[in-house]
Amino acid sequence: MDYIFSDTLASDDISLSATFDSSLDDTTTQVQLNTMPVSTNDSLTNALDNAVRDLRDASILIADNIAQRLRLTSKCLPQGVDFSAEEAREMCDDLIPSMRLQSDQEMEPMMLAFSARHLPALAACITSCDRATQPVALSTYIQVLSLLPAPESNAYLRAFLSSPAATGLPNVIAWHFTRGLHWIAPSGPGHVCALLTSLLFWCDAALGDDTRASIDARLRSELGATLPLYLSGETTDRPREVRRLALERLAVVLKRIDCASAAEACEYLAGARRRHGVGRPAQRECCVCHRVTELLCSQCKTVRFCGKECQAVAWKDGHQLQCFTAAV
Ligand SMILES: [Zn+2]
Ligand SMILES: [Zn+2]
Repeated sequence: MDYIFSDTLASDDISLSATFDSSLDDTTTQVQLNTMPVSTNDSLTNALDNAVRDLRDASILIADNIAQRLRLTSKCLPQGVDFSAEEAREMCDDLIPSMRLQSDQEMEPMMLAFSARHLPALAACITSCDRATQPVALSTYIQVLSLLPAPESNAYLRAFLSSPAATGLPNVIAWHFTRGLHWIAPSGPGHVCALLTSLLFWCDAALGDDTRASIDARLRSELGATLPLYLSGETTDRPREVRRLALERLAVVLKRIDCASAAEACEYLAGARRRHGVGRPAQRECCVCHRVTELLCSQCKTVRFCGKECQAVAWKDGHQLQCFTAAV
Protein backbone atom coordinates (compact mmCIF):
# COMPACT_ATOMS: atom_id res chain seq x y z
CA MET A 1 0.00 0.00 0.00
CA ASP A 2 1.62 3.18 -1.11
CA TYR A 3 0.28 6.66 -0.76
CA ILE A 4 1.50 9.74 -2.43
CA PHE A 5 0.55 12.98 -0.86
CA SER A 6 1.80 16.21 -2.26
CA ASP A 7 1.02 19.65 -1.15
CA THR A 8 1.86 23.01 -2.50
CA LEU A 9 1.26 26.36 -1.06
CA ALA A 10 0.22 28.83 -3.70
CA SER A 11 2.44 31.83 -4.03
CA ASP A 12 -0.28 34.25 -3.03
CA ASP A 13 -0.97 32.07 -0.03
CA ILE A 14 -4.70 32.06 -0.47
CA SER A 15 -5.04 28.53 -1.69
CA LEU A 16 -3.53 25.27 -0.65
CA SER A 17 -3.72 22.41 -3.07
CA ALA A 18 -3.09 18.85 -2.14
CA THR A 19 -3.32 15.57 -3.93
CA PHE A 20 -3.80 12.16 -2.45
CA ASP A 21 -2.88 9.47 -4.89
CA SER A 22 -3.83 6.13 -3.46
CA SER A 23 -2.86 2.96 -5.27
CA LEU A 24 -5.01 0.91 -2.95
CA ASP A 25 -7.07 -1.66 -4.89
CA ASP A 26 -5.79 -0.26 -8.16
CA THR A 27 -8.02 2.74 -8.14
CA THR A 28 -6.58 6.17 -7.89
CA THR A 29 -8.25 8.62 -5.63
CA GLN A 30 -7.29 12.19 -6.04
CA VAL A 31 -8.56 14.80 -3.74
CA GLN A 32 -8.03 18.40 -4.60
CA LEU A 33 -8.14 20.83 -1.78
CA ASN A 34 -10.62 23.56 -2.24
CA THR A 35 -9.37 27.06 -2.19
CA MET A 36 -9.03 28.09 1.38
CA PRO A 37 -10.40 31.57 1.69
CA VAL A 38 -8.17 33.84 3.67
CA SER A 39 -9.19 37.41 4.08
CA THR A 40 -6.87 39.39 1.86
CA ASN A 41 -7.51 42.29 4.17
CA ASP A 42 -6.06 40.41 7.05
CA SER A 43 -2.56 41.72 6.64
CA LEU A 44 -1.39 40.36 9.97
CA THR A 45 -2.33 36.83 8.95
CA ASN A 46 -0.57 37.25 5.63
CA ALA A 47 2.52 38.68 7.28
CA LEU A 48 2.66 35.77 9.71
CA ASP A 49 2.17 33.25 6.92
CA ASN A 50 4.97 34.86 4.93
CA ALA A 51 7.25 34.86 7.97
CA VAL A 52 6.65 31.17 8.57
CA ARG A 53 7.29 30.36 4.93
CA ASP A 54 10.51 32.38 5.00
CA LEU A 55 11.59 30.54 8.14
CA ARG A 56 10.99 27.21 6.41
CA ASP A 57 13.05 28.26 3.37
CA ALA A 58 15.81 29.63 5.60
CA SER A 59 15.89 26.42 7.64
CA ILE A 60 16.55 24.35 4.54
CA LEU A 61 19.26 26.75 3.35
CA ILE A 62 21.01 26.79 6.73
CA ALA A 63 20.79 23.00 7.06
CA ASP A 64 22.36 22.55 3.62
CA ASN A 65 25.02 25.12 4.41
CA ILE A 66 26.01 23.27 7.58
CA ALA A 67 26.15 19.99 5.64
CA GLN A 68 28.36 21.60 3.05
CA ARG A 69 30.75 23.02 5.64
CA LEU A 70 30.91 19.59 7.25
CA ARG A 71 31.77 18.20 3.82
CA LEU A 72 28.74 15.95 3.82
CA THR A 73 27.45 17.04 0.42
CA SER A 74 30.44 17.78 -1.74
CA LYS A 75 34.20 17.51 -1.47
CA CYS A 76 33.85 14.67 1.05
CA LEU A 77 36.95 14.03 3.09
CA PRO A 78 39.12 11.45 1.34
CA GLN A 79 40.00 8.40 3.42
CA GLY A 80 42.82 9.23 5.80
CA VAL A 81 42.47 13.01 5.45
CA ASP A 82 41.27 15.06 8.45
CA PHE A 83 39.77 18.54 8.54
CA SER A 84 42.38 21.20 7.96
CA ALA A 85 43.47 23.30 10.95
CA GLU A 86 41.34 26.13 9.61
CA GLU A 87 38.29 23.90 9.22
CA ALA A 88 38.81 22.46 12.72
CA ARG A 89 38.93 25.96 14.16
CA GLU A 90 35.75 26.88 12.32
CA MET A 91 33.98 23.80 13.73
CA CYS A 92 34.97 24.74 17.29
CA ASP A 93 34.49 28.48 17.12
CA ASP A 94 31.49 28.78 14.89
CA LEU A 95 29.70 25.83 13.36
CA ILE A 96 29.11 23.53 16.35
CA PRO A 97 28.31 26.37 18.80
CA SER A 98 25.88 27.82 16.25
CA MET A 99 23.79 24.65 16.46
CA ARG A 100 22.73 25.69 19.97
CA LEU A 101 22.88 29.46 19.78
CA GLN A 102 19.17 30.10 19.79
CA SER A 103 16.48 28.48 21.87
CA ASP A 104 15.54 24.94 20.96
CA GLN A 105 12.26 26.19 19.52
CA GLU A 106 14.00 28.56 17.13
CA MET A 107 16.52 25.93 16.09
CA GLU A 108 14.02 23.12 15.63
CA PRO A 109 13.05 23.68 11.97
CA MET A 110 16.71 23.92 10.93
CA MET A 111 17.72 20.87 12.94
CA LEU A 112 14.80 18.87 11.56
CA ALA A 113 15.64 19.94 8.00
CA PHE A 114 19.24 18.86 8.60
CA SER A 115 18.05 15.53 10.02
CA ALA A 116 15.73 14.89 7.10
CA ARG A 117 18.23 15.79 4.42
CA HIS A 118 21.67 14.80 5.73
CA LEU A 119 21.44 11.98 8.28
CA PRO A 120 22.48 9.19 5.89
CA ALA A 121 25.59 11.13 4.82
CA LEU A 122 26.46 12.01 8.43
CA ALA A 123 26.10 8.38 9.57
CA ALA A 124 28.19 7.16 6.63
CA CYS A 125 30.98 9.56 7.63
CA ILE A 126 30.88 8.38 11.25
CA THR A 127 31.13 4.72 10.31
CA SER A 128 33.85 5.26 7.71
CA CYS A 129 36.11 7.76 9.52
CA ASP A 130 39.47 6.43 10.64
CA ARG A 131 40.26 7.17 14.27
CA ALA A 132 44.02 7.37 13.76
CA THR A 133 44.07 9.70 10.78
CA GLN A 134 40.75 11.60 11.07
CA PRO A 135 40.23 12.22 14.81
CA VAL A 136 38.84 15.74 14.46
CA ALA A 137 36.37 14.89 11.70
CA LEU A 138 35.24 11.78 13.58
CA SER A 139 34.71 13.71 16.82
CA THR A 140 32.90 16.49 14.97
CA TYR A 141 30.52 14.15 13.17
CA ILE A 142 29.60 12.23 16.33
CA GLN A 143 28.96 15.47 18.22
CA VAL A 144 26.87 16.95 15.41
CA LEU A 145 24.68 13.84 15.68
CA SER A 146 24.56 14.29 19.47
CA LEU A 147 23.26 17.85 19.08
CA LEU A 148 20.31 16.99 16.84
CA PRO A 149 16.88 16.83 18.51
CA ALA A 150 16.44 13.44 20.17
CA PRO A 151 14.39 10.73 18.44
CA GLU A 152 11.43 11.43 20.73
CA SER A 153 10.98 14.81 19.05
CA ASN A 154 12.75 14.09 15.76
CA ALA A 155 10.81 11.74 13.50
CA TYR A 156 13.63 11.71 10.93
CA LEU A 157 16.22 10.51 13.44
CA ARG A 158 13.73 8.02 14.85
CA ALA A 159 13.03 6.56 11.40
CA PHE A 160 16.71 6.51 10.51
CA LEU A 161 17.81 4.72 13.70
CA SER A 162 15.04 2.15 13.26
CA SER A 163 16.14 1.41 9.69
CA PRO A 164 18.87 -0.89 8.33
CA ALA A 165 20.81 2.27 7.40
CA ALA A 166 21.81 2.60 11.06
CA THR A 167 23.72 -0.69 10.96
CA GLY A 168 27.14 -0.24 12.53
CA LEU A 169 26.39 3.13 14.07
CA PRO A 170 25.75 2.07 17.73
CA ASN A 171 28.94 0.00 18.00
CA VAL A 172 31.10 2.55 16.24
CA ILE A 173 29.95 5.44 18.45
CA ALA A 174 30.24 3.38 21.65
CA TRP A 175 33.74 2.27 20.65
CA HIS A 176 34.94 5.80 19.99
CA PHE A 177 33.30 7.22 23.13
CA THR A 178 35.10 4.72 25.35
CA ARG A 179 38.39 5.69 23.72
CA GLY A 180 37.79 9.44 23.95
CA LEU A 181 36.75 12.22 21.62
CA HIS A 182 37.90 15.77 21.00
CA TRP A 183 35.10 17.59 22.81
CA ILE A 184 33.59 20.58 21.09
CA ALA A 185 31.29 22.72 23.24
CA PRO A 186 28.37 22.80 23.59
CA SER A 187 28.49 19.05 23.00
CA GLY A 188 30.18 16.90 25.62
CA PRO A 189 30.07 13.48 27.27
CA GLY A 190 26.49 14.09 28.41
CA HIS A 191 25.28 14.70 24.88
CA VAL A 192 27.03 11.62 23.53
CA CYS A 193 25.69 9.49 26.41
CA ALA A 194 22.16 10.70 25.62
CA LEU A 195 22.84 9.74 22.01
CA LEU A 196 24.05 6.27 23.09
CA THR A 197 20.86 5.81 25.11
CA SER A 198 18.85 6.74 22.01
CA LEU A 199 20.85 4.24 19.96
CA LEU A 200 20.05 1.53 22.50
CA PHE A 201 16.36 2.44 22.53
CA TRP A 202 15.77 2.93 18.83
CA CYS A 203 18.21 0.74 16.87
CA ASP A 204 17.44 -2.91 16.22
CA ALA A 205 18.75 -5.07 19.07
CA ALA A 206 19.72 -7.67 16.45
CA LEU A 207 22.60 -5.37 15.46
CA GLY A 208 24.42 -6.33 18.67
CA ASP A 209 26.35 -9.58 18.97
CA ASP A 210 24.13 -11.06 21.69
CA THR A 211 20.83 -9.65 20.36
CA ARG A 212 20.13 -8.00 23.71
CA ALA A 213 20.88 -4.53 22.41
CA SER A 214 22.29 -2.79 19.36
CA ILE A 215 25.67 -2.34 21.10
CA ASP A 216 27.85 -5.46 21.48
CA ALA A 217 28.16 -7.07 24.94
CA ARG A 218 31.87 -6.28 25.32
CA LEU A 219 31.35 -2.64 24.36
CA ARG A 220 28.43 -2.31 26.78
CA SER A 221 30.69 -3.51 29.53
CA GLU A 222 33.44 -1.07 28.47
CA LEU A 223 30.87 1.72 28.47
CA GLY A 224 29.73 0.71 31.96
CA ALA A 225 33.35 0.96 33.12
CA THR A 226 33.96 4.32 31.41
CA LEU A 227 30.96 6.18 32.82
CA PRO A 228 32.13 6.25 36.47
CA LEU A 229 35.41 7.81 35.33
CA TYR A 230 33.52 10.72 33.80
CA LEU A 231 31.15 10.97 36.77
CA SER A 232 33.93 11.01 39.33
CA GLY A 233 36.00 13.52 37.43
CA GLU A 234 38.90 11.11 36.90
CA THR A 235 38.96 12.06 33.26
CA THR A 236 40.07 15.49 32.19
CA ASP A 237 36.66 16.09 30.64
CA ARG A 238 34.38 16.19 33.64
CA PRO A 239 30.87 16.88 32.40
CA ARG A 240 29.02 19.86 33.64
CA GLU A 241 26.66 18.96 36.45
CA VAL A 242 23.65 19.62 34.29
CA ARG A 243 24.63 16.79 31.97
CA ARG A 244 25.41 14.23 34.71
CA LEU A 245 21.88 12.99 34.40
CA ALA A 246 22.51 11.68 30.87
CA LEU A 247 25.52 9.67 32.07
CA GLU A 248 23.62 8.27 35.03
CA ARG A 249 20.67 7.40 32.83
CA LEU A 250 22.89 5.51 30.37
CA ALA A 251 24.42 3.59 33.29
CA VAL A 252 20.94 2.56 34.44
CA VAL A 253 19.90 1.51 30.93
CA LEU A 254 23.06 -0.60 30.52
CA LYS A 255 22.38 -2.29 33.86
CA ARG A 256 18.78 -2.98 32.91
CA ILE A 257 19.94 -4.63 29.69
CA ASP A 258 22.57 -6.83 31.27
CA CYS A 259 20.95 -7.75 34.57
CA ALA A 260 17.83 -9.16 32.94
CA SER A 261 17.30 -12.17 30.69
CA ALA A 262 17.65 -11.52 26.96
CA ALA A 263 13.86 -11.59 26.57
CA GLU A 264 13.37 -9.16 29.45
CA ALA A 265 16.04 -6.84 27.99
CA CYS A 266 14.22 -6.79 24.63
CA GLU A 267 10.91 -6.11 26.34
CA TYR A 268 12.48 -3.30 28.39
CA LEU A 269 13.85 -1.59 25.25
CA ALA A 270 10.58 -2.08 23.35
CA GLY A 271 8.72 -0.60 26.33
CA ALA A 272 11.02 2.43 26.33
CA ARG A 273 10.34 2.91 22.61
CA ARG A 274 6.60 2.69 23.18
CA ARG A 275 6.72 5.19 26.05
CA HIS A 276 8.74 7.69 24.03
CA GLY A 277 6.64 7.12 20.93
CA VAL A 278 3.38 7.96 22.65
CA GLY A 279 1.58 10.73 20.84
CA ARG A 280 3.99 10.50 17.95
CA PRO A 281 3.43 9.40 14.37
CA ALA A 282 3.95 5.72 15.00
CA GLN A 283 0.26 6.09 15.74
CA ARG A 284 -2.35 5.23 13.17
CA GLU A 285 -4.44 8.33 13.76
CA CYS A 286 -4.75 11.59 11.91
CA CYS A 287 -2.60 14.03 13.85
CA VAL A 288 -5.34 16.65 13.79
CA CYS A 289 -8.68 14.92 14.37
CA HIS A 290 -7.33 11.58 15.67
CA ARG A 291 -9.42 9.46 13.32
CA VAL A 292 -7.63 6.24 12.30
CA THR A 293 -6.22 6.61 8.80
CA GLU A 294 -3.75 4.99 6.42
CA LEU A 295 -2.78 8.23 4.67
CA LEU A 296 0.78 9.36 5.29
CA CYS A 297 2.22 12.73 4.41
CA SER A 298 4.37 11.69 1.45
CA GLN A 299 6.83 14.52 1.85
CA CYS A 300 8.04 13.73 5.38
CA LYS A 301 6.31 10.37 5.96
CA THR A 302 6.19 11.21 9.64
CA VAL A 303 2.55 12.10 10.20
CA ARG A 304 -0.87 10.92 9.14
CA PHE A 305 -3.75 12.98 7.88
CA CYS A 306 -7.23 11.67 7.23
CA GLY A 307 -7.71 14.09 4.35
CA LYS A 308 -7.38 17.50 2.85
CA GLU A 309 -8.97 19.54 5.61
CA CYS A 310 -6.80 18.19 8.39
CA GLN A 311 -3.70 18.43 6.22
CA ALA A 312 -4.40 22.08 5.52
CA VAL A 313 -5.03 22.79 9.20
CA ALA A 314 -1.79 21.07 10.24
CA TRP A 315 0.28 22.74 7.52
CA LYS A 316 -0.86 26.19 8.58
CA ASP A 317 -0.51 25.22 12.21
CA GLY A 318 3.21 24.54 11.94
CA HIS A 319 3.68 21.30 10.04
CA GLN A 320 5.41 23.27 7.29
CA LEU A 321 8.25 23.83 9.75
CA GLN A 322 8.58 20.11 10.42
CA CYS A 323 7.86 18.64 7.00
CA PHE A 324 10.94 17.99 4.86
CA THR A 325 11.79 15.40 2.26
CA ALA A 326 13.94 12.73 3.85
CA ALA A 327 17.12 11.60 2.11
CA VAL A 328 17.35 7.85 1.71
ZN1 LIG B 1 -8.13 14.31 10.41
ZN1 LIG C 1 4.74 16.21 6.21
